[in-house]
Amino acid sequence: MSGTSISDRAVPGLLTKADLSGGLSFEEVRLLLALTDPEDVRALLETADRVRARVVGDEVHLRGLVEFSNYCRKNCAYCGLRRDNSHVERYRLSADEIISIAGDLDQRGIRTVVLQSGEDLSYSAEALADIIRRIKQSTSLAVTLSVGERPRVHYEMWKQAGADRYLLRHETVNRELFDAMECGTSFENRMRCIRDLRELDYQVGIGFMVGLPGQTLDDLAGDLMFVKEMQPDMLGIGPFIPASETPLAGRPGGSLEQTLKCVALGRILTRDTLIPATTALATIDEFGYELGLRAGANVVMPNWTPLDCREQYAIYPNKRCLREDPDIWLCTLKERIAAMGRAVSAGRGHSPKKAALSAD
Ligand code: SF4
Repeated sequence: MSGTSISDRAVPGLLTKADLSGGLSFEEVRLLLALTDPEDVRALLETADRVRARVVGDEVHLRGLVEFSNYCRKNCAYCGLRRDNSHVERYRLSADEIISIAGDLDQRGIRTVVLQSGEDLSYSAEALADIIRRIKQSTSLAVTLSVGERPRVHYEMWKQAGADRYLLRHETVNRELFDAMECGTSFENRMRCIRDLRELDYQVGIGFMVGLPGQTLDDLAGDLMFVKEMQPDMLGIGPFIPASETPLAGRPGGSLEQTLKCVALGRILTRDTLIPATTALATIDEFGYELGLRAGANVVMPNWTPLDCREQYAIYPNKRCLREDPDIWLCTLKERIAAMGRAVSAGRGHSPKKAALSAD
């Protein structure tokens, strides 16, 4: 019997199982990732959408993204901000600029600020803690950090200053593939960071890219099983988009369909995790936000980086929303979400996995 006919026979039962529980095995996840029949793929995405609606409802949580520095000490092979890319014009925002942008977000009812940067050690742990403290004192925002690998004491200091969440993608559980990405770190250190963050009671986001050169279906199934085991508070899954001036320039990018299947399986395996329709997804397809939100996602991250810096935060090329006025774009985004019959959340959208916080 061919692989296809096994799929044909197994798919309806598997999707019923996926609808009822997240208890899929590696082989079952792999089989669903391998689906190619458009009807089967559609049924998988619809299953995830049903699970999303039933478990976390129709609200979409907005996170205001502030890319405050594009300096990076690391050299990830897929990333346009890598240290060795001398074609990037580097910038840093001052503490006052960052805090002022956080105030703008608060006034517009976006209840989370995501402070993201390359691994830029010129912001000391104390300096970042001070920024977090000032944001928490002057706004009602939840603060998410995405500044890479740091020692545990830094994470501890930022948590004490009031940081709520931390995004640190695990990238891949295949160590050979991890090493091939030349990130200048080890898989063990990445896991140490994620473990530290969880122990320090952050809401922690992990995630991975789909379509990395050399990545196999087994790798993706392995990443999804890792996600199932970790049950993260947040989960970011986006397509690989090749960036110029990097070792992976010119390689094929990740596909829309495979990314959506991974988002859907992320929802099915985690049930109530916060999952963004990523900007990378919206970059490879004009309707990427809608497609992600219909495949199990429930978060969108509008970019609130100053317009004159956005183009320089080029992790990958042609990023969505490089030039849009943020207020106009926010209106458009809300209209697009409303047109899907979904509503923008008025709350801070804490992780449902943190029971004490989730009502806020
Ligand atoms: S992915 Fe992050 S850590 Fe790696 S080079 Fe890019 S900004 Fe730096």
